[in-house]
Amino acid sequence: MLQTWHVGIDDTDSQSGMCTTFLGTIIVDFLLKHSLEFLDFPKLIRLNPNIPYKTRGNGAVAITFMAYEEIIDSLWKGIVGLVKENADINDPHTDPGLILIKGEIPSAFQELYWEALYQVIPLNFVKQLLKKHTSEKHFYVKEGRGLIGAAAAIGAILSQDYTYEFIAYRNPEEKKSERLIDPISVINADKKTLLTFNNYDYEHKQVMISPHGPDPVFCGIRGETSSAVIRMWELIDILEPIQTTMVFRTNQHTQVHFPKKFLGHELKPYLSVKVRGIVAKKPYNYPGGHVIFTIKSGNVSIDCAAYEPTKRFRKIIRELIEGDEVLVFGGVRPASSKNPVTINIEEVQIIKLISIQEKVTPKCPICGASLTSAGRNQGLKCKKCSFTSPKKKYICQQKSRKLRTGVRYVIPVCAQRHLTKPVTRNLPLQFHLSPEIDFKYAFYDFLKKRTILNNHDINRRETYTYMKNKK
Ligand code: ATP
Repeated sequence: MLQTWHVGIDDTDSQSGMCTTFLGTIIVDFLLKHSLEFLDFPKLIRLNPNIPYKTRGNGAVAITFMAYEEIIDSLWKGIVGLVKENADINDPHTDPGLILIKGEIPSAFQELYWEALYQVIPLNFVKQLLKKHTSEKHFYVKEGRGLIGAAAAIGAILSQDYTYEFIAYRNPEEKKSERLIDPISVINADKKTLLTFNNYDYEHKQVMISPHGPDPVFCGIRGETSSAVIRMWELIDILEPIQTTMVFRTNQHTQVHFPKKFLGHELKPYLSVKVRGIVAKKPYNYPGGHVIFTIKSGNVSIDCAAYEPTKRFRKIIRELIEGDEVLVFGGVRPASSKNPVTINIEEVQIIKLISIQEKVTPKCPICGASLTSAGRNQGLKCKKCSFTSPKKKYICQQKSRKLRTGVRYVIPVCAQRHLTKPVTRNLPLQFHLSPEIDFKYAFYDFLKKRTILNNHDINRRETYTYMKNKK
């Protein structure tokens, strides 16, 4: 019988290589050789970014397809084989998990996804869940910690907000940190593809689409539609061999990791939280370039930190004063021997700014310029028209504040998490709710073009390889 199947996979990479999205791509390529039909793009699902045992961006992959029940055992065998062969199992921190489920996604998996976005889920909880859903198959090598992400990725339906990422992969044996992309072409392409984002950090002059680790990702282009991210790839100039490409539908940049408001006393290490509070101690500089302030939420005082990598965001934070009411978004860092529990800030919104009065000198009644002091125990004078006043009278006025209510103050692109919603992403939710969107069609459309996309800039790349071999 023809059935719908969902594969979830996580925890296959290590600090020294591999990437779960790359293994996801290998699995898609394996499935493409069989008689089955994909129902969607593969999904790249980011989970709680504050999980301590993540390798990089806490990402898991889910793949959905239709196939006859009769061939599923052989497909499962093949997928397990690919995980065994490609996951970096020798690394002590890699603990892969793989799940296959049939039919409708159980609501328990969907609930797990929402919880895994901001909490720390115990592995036993997921193993119990898998025991209850006996129709699924699962596989793990060590403890099976990857089953948490694998199950949560299957549960992520992405029925509301979502984005796309086009990923180009290099040969996984290549470990160097530099990726040869022409930055000018990235800037030009960024300006031409308005439905992509986070391509270039104009403030810090940094290409944002290429990582720097030893992983197989050559670059990742993010945007609102699959055609926009593909177009951007076509427009950039690259100089290195590309092994393959894939487009993922993702929950990246949707800010789903802050589903509820927390009170101060509920903060536990590694949660992603949104806390409302009043600034109780104004921001001060902390060694290392960090800026810290304290809020009071209920009866609890909580330290909040804008760390050095958040660059100019620290300037915004320094504008806060005692009494301001704020909504702080971020990850809870556990207490250390030196510091208490601290929120690592990703975003701040101002609920209420307190007004402060300041003493200023009045304006000149003749020419309107500001009066200045005429000297000790003397009155005021106007430097412009020489008017003098024998009395030194100051007036009180409301100091203007640089911060505004109703604005999202977000850390800069170079410091953002995968789930952070960039301020430039302002499309209404309906944008993605059109009934005309057919993921299956769009995915097959991408597959048709894939060979051309994999060979993009091949001539320039061949020149590069020739030059490299000559050296
Ligand atoms: P990459 O994104 O490069 O593939 P990663 O950063 O996703 O790597 P992993 O190696 O997958 O890191 O490690 C993350 C681990 O955390 C996985 O085992 C996953 O199952 C687990 N995990 C993810 N979310 C949660 C959560 N909310 N609670 C507990 N464990 C989680």
